[in-house]
Amino acid sequence: MRLIDGKAVAAELRAEVAGAVAKRVAAGCRPPALAVVLVGEDPASQVYVRNKVQACQEAGIRSRTHRLPADVAEAALLDLVQELNTDPEIDGILVQLPLPPQCNAARVIEAIHPGKDVDGFHPVNAGRLALGLPGFVPCTPAGCLRLLKTVHAELAGLEALVIGRSTIVGRPMAALLVSESATVTVAHSKSRDLPALVSRADIVVAAVGQAEMVRGGWLKPGATVIDVGINRVTGANGKARLVGDVAFAEAAEVAGAITPVPGGVGPMTIACLLLNTLRAAA
Ligand code: NDP
Repeated sequence: MRLIDGKAVAAELRAEVAGAVAKRVAAGCRPPALAVVLVGEDPASQVYVRNKVQACQEAGIRSRTHRLPADVAEAALLDLVQELNTDPEIDGILVQLPLPPQCNAARVIEAIHPGKDVDGFHPVNAGRLALGLPGFVPCTPAGCLRLLKTVHAELAGLEALVIGRSTIVGRPMAALLVSESATVTVAHSKSRDLPALVSRADIVVAAVGQAEMVRGGWLKPGATVIDVGINRVTGANGKARLVGDVAFAEAAEVAGAITPVPGGVGPMTIACLLLNTLRAAA
């Protein structure tokens, strides 16, 4: 069994981005610049934003964080997005989700200029991905694809199962795999006999949000498993720990390659955000 080291792959990608940024700057261009919009005080969002800002800094990317109060009116948030859309000093815009209830996330995302949409959530970018056209690809599935390619040089003809159909992970993941000529099945909460679907798959991408739901015994021997899930559970010792959507210890007995949680998909998401920001500047 091979452990897919997301930390190492992400570090390589971050170094590549840093190198490309340095080259741009040496050529006389300003560094790429990312605007991060954070609404409210959600503790998880604060941590995500802090990590993104720090990763930018390390890669030589400029970042600017706009903090808005939790009770901000949607119109004020839309005004800020509009301002950033036309700001020539900003290449990428990221609005950290979730937003408070008075701000409609779909409306806010749609207000971002598709050319600055480094999260790849805008309908134009989602549509381009669905059509197999170039555009900004959401960071988590883009990171999953990179990890898959460290195991399989060629994905054509492989049976891939994506569990989950969210707009940020499952759907774009399935579109990427179709573009790679894999044979793709998308499972969700209404799917029947998930174990049978899993048992056919050469590649399983689990993005469900349910701790250790995918059991090792379901897997085809030698399958490649990408575990997107991040679930906080309390262990027998009363301490909190993070687990994925796949029962790791069981799955590692059967899989050919598997990502750990943490240290698998998580680090790739930020690395792909840096890459998207560099592309937005280019
Ligand atoms: P969502 O809750 O938006 O989507 C979950 C999906 O799983 C839905 O499509 C749902 O189906 C499906 N599902 C739920 N229960 C079952 C079931 N019993 N059997 C089959 N499918 C089921 O989650 P996200 O896509 O946003 O995130 C998924 C996981 O990935 C979470 O743990 C999240 O924390 C993690 N995550 C990790 C990231 C990273 O950087 N590593 C980034 C983003 C997310 P239906 O559509 O029918 O409701």
